Amino acid sequence: MNHLSEKVKRAATSLLLPVDKARIGNCKNCGACCMFVYRCPFLNLEKHRAICTIHRIRPPMCRKYPRTKAEQIHKPCGYSFIN
Ligand code: SF4
Repeated sequence: MNHLSEKVKRAATSLLLPVDKARIGNCKNCGACCMFVYRCPFLNLEKHRAICTIHRIRPPMCRKYPRTKAEQIHKPCGYSFIN
């Protein structure tokens, strides 16, 4: 699967499916998932820390990332999944 199709899949599944209960951790604001395929226009990088300028109304694909281990593309990421 190429990067664009990964992003399309992530956008589609996030509309209906929940975050896997096996997910643990917290976002470290690295911004990697905000720059995947294209740089999000709402991303503000300050001193190597990613700030979402629409954080309160961000779309499900951002709100739920990484929704599952299979959909997690970026590592290291503050989130991981327990077995
Ligand atoms: S890749 Fe992970 S740690 Fe980095 S901004 Fe996205 S969710 Fe947060």
